[in-house]
Amino acid sequence: MNQCPHCRDKAISHFAKVTSRPADPAVCPNCGGRCHVACHSTLPGRIANLSVVAFPLLALGGLFVTGNLWAAVALVASIGITAYAVHVLALLNSPLVATSEEGVEDASRWLSAFALYVMVASTITVLVVLYRHHAP
Ligand SMILES: [Zn+2]
Repeated sequence: MNQCPHCRDKAISHFAKVTSRPADPAVCPNCGGRCHVACHSTLPGRIANLSVVAFPLLALGGLFVTGNLWAAVALVASIGITAYAVHVLALLNSPLVATSEEGVEDASRWLSAFALYVMVASTITVLVVLYRHHAP
C-alpha cells in the first residue's frame, strides 16, 4: 500500500497508484483526497512519461530501419513491452502527489493534447507504411 499525501495513511493500493493519472487521480478510501503519481517532478516519473511518448516514435524508427512492416511490428512489440515494464516500475517508484479539482481540469487539457499527439504520430506511421509499399 502507498501513503496518501493528504492523510498520510497507507491507503492507496499499488493498482490505484499505477493507474492514477493527473486527469484521473486515485481517490483515498480513507479521507477521499485525490492524488496521482508525480509524473513531472521525479526521475522515475520522467522515465515513465518518456517511455509512453517514445513508443510511436520507436514504431516509426523501427519501420525506417527495417523497411519491413512485420519486422517493424516485432521490433516495436518487444520495445513496447520493455517500455511498458519500465513504465510500470517507474510509476511504482514514483511518489504520490496531492491534487485538487483544479489540477484535474488542468490535466484533462494536457490529456487532450497528448491524445492529439498520438493520433498525429499514428497517422504519420500509417502514411509512411503506405508510401513505402507503393513507392517504386
Ligand atoms: Zn487519504
